[in-house]
Amino acid sequence: MPLKRSLSQTLSVYSSEHFPWFKKQTSQHRHQVVVGVGGNIGDVKRRFEHLFFEIQRDRRVVLTQTSLILKNPPFGFSEQEDFLNTIIVIKTSMNAKVFLAFLMRLEKKFGRKRSFANAPRTLDLDIIFFDNLVMNTDKLTLPHPAWMERESVLIPLSGLHL
Ligand code: ADP
Ligand code: MG
Repeated sequence: MPLKRSLSQTLSVYSSEHFPWFKKQTSQHRHQVVVGVGGNIGDVKRRFEHLFFEIQRDRRVVLTQTSLILKNPPFGFSEQEDFLNTIIVIKTSMNAKVFLAFLMRLEKKFGRKRSFANAPRTLDLDIIFFDNLVMNTDKLTLPHPAWMERESVLIPLSGLHL
């Protein structure tokens, strides 16, 4: 059973088997990427555990940390389930553009369908920080434009060792 703690009327944090988690050894990969993970369809905690193993199987990336899980209300379009959010830290030698494509393939693998902005989703993977890279193109804005405004990012992030 995951542990739950309420932070306020609308926010609670959970810990589960691999959230939070961290790896003792470091890796040789060049870049450190902080990835925001979210979802609000179906058994999201189970999906996060599945994602944990899926990422660990891939030799192009090394998972080094995960945060606790935050349950929080949706924004933008409110007629939907609460979101679960977590943050994972990945080391990789892929560049930022290739890494974004890697995340989008993972979203697809976990059943993500794109409909409208802020719609319910099985799995959302956003790059919050890619080292200390700053960029703004059509496909990729770094750091993630809303990271400082979102509890879904700030609360999980606050427990990480970066
Ligand atoms: P959101 O995450 O805002 O709910 P989506 O997951 O549907 O929306 O992403 C929409 C687009 O945002 C993606 O196709 C991607 O090209 C773009 N994008 C821009 N910056 C980032 C980032 N830092 N991380 C992830 N996607 C990004
Ligand atoms: Mg996204």
